[in-house]
Amino acid sequence: MNTILKNAKTIVLSPPTIRECDIRISEGEIASVASHLKPVRGEETVDLAGKIVMPGFVCSHTHLYSSLSRGMPAPAGAPKNFLEILNKIWWRLDEALDEESIYYSALAGSIESVKFGTTTFIDHHASPNHIRGSLDIIKEAMSRVGVRGILCYETTDRGGVKRRDLGLEENERFLTENTSNSHFRGAIGAHASLTLGDDSLRKLGELAELYDSGVHIHVAEDNVDVLDSEKRYKLALTERLKKFGILRKKSILAHAVHLTQAQFKDVERTGAWLIHNPRSNMNNAVGYAPLNWFGARSSLGTDGFPADLFEEARIGYFRNAESDFRTEFCRLPVMLHTGQKLVSEYFGRPFGTLAEGSPADIVVLDYNPPTPLRTKNLYGHFLFGMTSASVQHVMVDGNWSVWDRQVLGLDERAVMEKAAKVATRLWHKMGRSH
Ligand SMILES: [Zn+2]
Repeated sequence: MNTILKNAKTIVLSPPTIRECDIRISEGEIASVASHLKPVRGEETVDLAGKIVMPGFVCSHTHLYSSLSRGMPAPAGAPKNFLEILNKIWWRLDEALDEESIYYSALAGSIESVKFGTTTFIDHHASPNHIRGSLDIIKEAMSRVGVRGILCYETTDRGGVKRRDLGLEENERFLTENTSNSHFRGAIGAHASLTLGDDSLRKLGELAELYDSGVHIHVAEDNVDVLDSEKRYKLALTERLKKFGILRKKSILAHAVHLTQAQFKDVERTGAWLIHNPRSNMNNAVGYAPLNWFGARSSLGTDGFPADLFEEARIGYFRNAESDFRTEFCRLPVMLHTGQKLVSEYFGRPFGTLAEGSPADIVVLDYNPPTPLRTKNLYGHFLFGMTSASVQHVMVDGNWSVWDRQVLGLDERAVMEKAAKVATRLWHKMGRSH
C-alpha cells in the first residue's frame, strides 16, 4: 500500500538539513518528496502536523545475544580486567545460549530497540553450543519485528578447530543465502585477533575475498589485543590483520580504542569502517577511543547495550566534552549518518537520504522544543533535546513497525514475560541465580 505523509519536517544529520514537505512512500521506497502532494484513491494519508521525520537509525555494532543479561547476578569475584570480563561474563553467557534463548534475545532486543527508532542492526553473534543455523534464528526473530540486519557469527579459536569451522561455515551459509534479501545481508564474523591464530585469520580473509564481503571484528578494544599481536606474532595489530586480508572495503572494525592516529588513517585507506562504542568502552574500563581520530568512514554502535542511538551519541559527546572544550557538536550525529552509508554499501541501496529512491526506513518524532529549530542549530537540538522518548512511529521498508509507541503485530507484554522466563533459565544454566 502507498502512504503519504503530509506536513512532515524532515531532518537529515549530514549535511544538516531540515525541510518542510510531504512524502509519498511506495513499494518500500520514498517515491516522491514535494511541498504539496495530493493523495490518490487507496493511499494511506497520515497528517504529521509538523512532526519530525528522520531516517531510521543504524546500530553499527552490537550483540543482540546479550539482551537477556540485564540484571543478571554478578560473577563470584568481580572481574579485574577486560579478559576477566570476557571470561567470567560474556563467554559464560554465550556458552549457555541455546535455540530458545538466542531467539528471545534477538526478539526482545529488536522490540526494545525499534521503539528507540533503530531500524537496522549490524549484529555480531556467538553461541558456541548452537552455531549451525544460529543466524537464521536471529533472522526469524528480527523478522517478527520487521527490522533489518547485517548478521555474522563470531568465528574464534577459543573452542577448538571443530567449532571454529562451524563458525566459518555458518558465516558462509548465511551470507550466500541472503545476497538478495530485502532485509538481511551476511558479513564474515570474527571475534578478535587475540582469539584467532594465523590459519583462522587466513580463512576469514579468504572468505571475505571470495564473496567480496567484509570482516566484522573487534579491534584494539583493550590494549591486550595490541600486545598479544606484538608478542605472539611480532606484528603490529593492524599489520597482522592486513597480512590476512581482514582490512578491506566493507570490513567493520569495532572499538579501535588503542590504535595510533597513523593506524586510524591506515585503516580508513583500506576502505574498512571503524565503529565507536562509547558506552561500552566506559563500562568495560578499556579506555576511551580518541574521538577526533575517527574519520569519514566511522559510525556508532552500542555493543550489546539496547540500541538507543540518541543516548549513545549523547553519552559519547559528554564523555569527550568532559575533558576537551573544543569537542564539536557535529561529531557524533555525523557518525550516526555514516551508519546509513555503511548499510548502503551492503545492500546496494541509498539508505538514510530521505530522497526519492531511498528505502522507506523512517522515524517520526514528537519533539516540541522551546527554542527555534534550524539547520544551523540542529546538532544542539539533537544532543541536548531529542531523545528516544520522542519516537512515536517507526516505519521499515514502507511498513509501520511501531505505531504510537506500540510494536505492531505482536503482543509485546507476552513476549517480554516469556523472555524473562528464558532469561532465568539461562542464568541458572550459567550457575547464577539470585
Ligand atoms: Zn562487541
